[in-house]
Amino acid sequence: MTVNVLFSARPAQWPIYEPLIRQGLTEAGLDFHLSTDIPADQVDYVVYAPSSGLTDFTPFTRLKAVLSLWAGVEKIADNETLTVPLARMVDSGLAEGMTEWVVGHVLRYHLGMDAHITGQDGTWEPAPPPLASQRHVTILGLGELGEASARALAALNFNVTGWSRTQKDIPGITCLSGPDGLRTALSQAEIVVLLLPDTPATENILNADTLALLPRGAKIINPGRGPLINDDALLDALNAGEVGHATLDVFRVEPLPADHPYWAHPNVTVTPHIASETRPPTAAQVICENIRRGEAGEPHLHLVDRTLGY
Ligand code: NAP
Repeated sequence: MTVNVLFSARPAQWPIYEPLIRQGLTEAGLDFHLSTDIPADQVDYVVYAPSSGLTDFTPFTRLKAVLSLWAGVEKIADNETLTVPLARMVDSGLAEGMTEWVVGHVLRYHLGMDAHITGQDGTWEPAPPPLASQRHVTILGLGELGEASARALAALNFNVTGWSRTQKDIPGITCLSGPDGLRTALSQAEIVVLLLPDTPATENILNADTLALLPRGAKIINPGRGPLINDDALLDALNAGEVGHATLDVFRVEPLPADHPYWAHPNVTVTPHIASETRPPTAAQVICENIRRGEAGEPHLHLVDRTLGY
């Protein structure tokens, strides 16, 4: 029987993904119909991005699974019209890109690059940076992206602490969990990287109380999601010098409104949600493998726990 696969993402993505998914499903030996336009009651799988605008899954009466192109699934995880399995994107290309972005921004802070890039005024005051082994970096979230970033930083000799919901054991990384673990992780963090998902349990995880745990002048890097940070509390901490600088890639409202105080703040770097993106060649393989598994009666990869929201 033909497997009907609906591609529901930004139209610009279709010409990029279409040949890759077609090739993958052909290699999987499936008889399939892949299109951006299939009657809802005939669709078996939806390859999905929230940018498609699809929110009502009620008419998809024979749907077997929704396969997200995005790693973050907060826009769909609590969708009550969705009653079939939801898989999120775990993509080696996405992890590679995030690792590079995180390492780059950690090194910017660690080496104090800004002082030399923006301070070329004839002053000769050598202040060599410490070694990475003398620098404490904390990563909140030790999932696909957090662990990859933590391992890369540890390979550069940074003192890396990671915090997650369940306890991990990763060589070379101090792994913590639970409320006490969060306090310990933040109290020693000269640089904090947020790689948590946006869920009810993680919203405002950085707030006035938790920001106060950081050593004075700590740096914050957020490539996770905007709602992880209470923005007013962060601005207060920046203005008081308690937080030294923040590099923010994600925001509660995107694009970040032109009048948002982050844009003009001297101690904030805004990047436009570019920390990492799903890479079509590797992501298409993940999508096709999940369809193959579904058709073979095997469990899907990377399923979202809808009660936890990630
Ligand atoms: P993931 O594999 O699901 O990992 C999430 C991590 O967060 C896990 O370690 C998890 O703990 C931990 N966590 C979740 N809830 C928690 C809680 N309440 N308390 C403590 N730890 C908690 O996700 P991922 O693939 O690494 O992606 C992380 C996030 O990055 C995504 O959700 C998305 O928001 C963001 N992202 C951003 C970009 C960008 O360009 N800016 C690109 C891709 C993704 P356990 O390990 O115990 O489950």
